[in-house]
Amino acid sequence: MEAIIIGGTVITMGQEGTIRGGAVVVEGGRIVAVGKARELKPKFPRYERLDARGCAILPGLVNAHQHISMSLLRGYADDYPLKEWLEKHIWPLEAKMSGRDMYVGALLTCAESLLGGVTTVNTMYHYAHPEWNEAKAIADIGMRGVVGHVCFSWRKEEDRKALDDLVRRWHGAADGRVRASVDPHAPYTVDPDYLVELRHLANSYNERYGDKGAVTLHIHVAETGDEPMKIKEAFGVSVDKGVLAYLDELGVLGPDVVAAHCVFLSDLDISIMAERGVKAVHNPVSNMKLASGVSPVAELLKAGVVVALGTDGPSSNNTADMFETMKFAALLQKVVLGDPTVLPAPLVLQMATLNGAKALLWDDIGALEPGKKADVIIVDFKKPHLRPLHNVESHLVYAAKASDVRTVMVDGQLVVEDGELKTMSLEKIMEMAEKAKEDLLSRLEA
Ligand SMILES: [Zn+2]
Repeated sequence: MEAIIIGGTVITMGQEGTIRGGAVVVEGGRIVAVGKARELKPKFPRYERLDARGCAILPGLVNAHQHISMSLLRGYADDYPLKEWLEKHIWPLEAKMSGRDMYVGALLTCAESLLGGVTTVNTMYHYAHPEWNEAKAIADIGMRGVVGHVCFSWRKEEDRKALDDLVRRWHGAADGRVRASVDPHAPYTVDPDYLVELRHLANSYNERYGDKGAVTLHIHVAETGDEPMKIKEAFGVSVDKGVLAYLDELGVLGPDVVAAHCVFLSDLDISIMAERGVKAVHNPVSNMKLASGVSPVAELLKAGVVVALGTDGPSSNNTADMFETMKFAALLQKVVLGDPTVLPAPLVLQMATLNGAKALLWDDIGALEPGKKADVIIVDFKKPHLRPLHNVESHLVYAAKASDVRTVMVDGQLVVEDGELKTMSLEKIMEMAEKAKEDLLSRLEA
């Protein structure tokens, strides 16, 4: 579409910084101009006008670690330790999920995400069906995302087939809105040889399909304190210097590695991440809910590591609310370090936008600048909890809620208008999810 978003405060996350009384001009899926409204308005007289007075205009949020299909399991099993939660509750139910279930679950999370201002998601799940899967949900609903297939040592043959199909069919699909990734589950479920094999596989995909964007490598790393012990027990290897040090010795690290969690890191791990350009994704809500611990985010940032933010999946969070995640990320570092100056609001906003884009090696999103993709959100500040207005960044991190998002544009298309999903019927998605849940439970009991 050709549109000019007028009024309000534009937070560009780029060279222009924050512009009061700003405007963003969109043409054919990309941003063509950003500046003062009074200067841009006369230059684009015939463009559709989107009134954003009294609002904040910012790049769509990037949720850099998710398992979007898992919304069907939201609230199914809470308040268990990670191992018991996975092995006794989540995995048995997941084993009964069909491709269609995964599609429906993914749609539900995508709808929730878009309505809450998330335009890009990085999701790790089972790619079980060539047509009914997370990638199709993202494509159908008009979102942007990186879709992986999660790999385990116990099903290598199945993984290889799934990965090949995923990358061939979906990398670059939906006008480039969907990309694929190679997702070893974690260093304790994927043996060292298989980790190396998956590293090589990601390299070969990048050689073959890299013109459509990077094929990243998405993995859970150092989520719990007993991870080195679990790796040692499973594969008889030494992990004494840290999990990242172990992965580095295998040669699997690089700038395309998106490492979710990074809670238990040695000093060596942190310096290795900085040196290799490994990206960290901090999931404060999930880490708190599962009592995993606190990622040394401030130290990672100080070392020069790109740290993005994620919600983690809907059954370990239990929402896709990135506003909540921004607030918790800031508060958690402050309370643990006893220092209210760490992770100030503008930095947290950067983590939820630009750093997310950097983590996914998706160069043309994450900021409002000419040439970037038109992934734009408008947050309504005409709310009692967002008045009076002293500082826009402060409100966005500490006071705004996902439900304050009014308008969402992805790739230049309006997907949410006045708080309403435009691309699909929200009512129908919720109905499908409820039905899929009932069917899933009845299959578990059968
Ligand atoms: Zn996860």
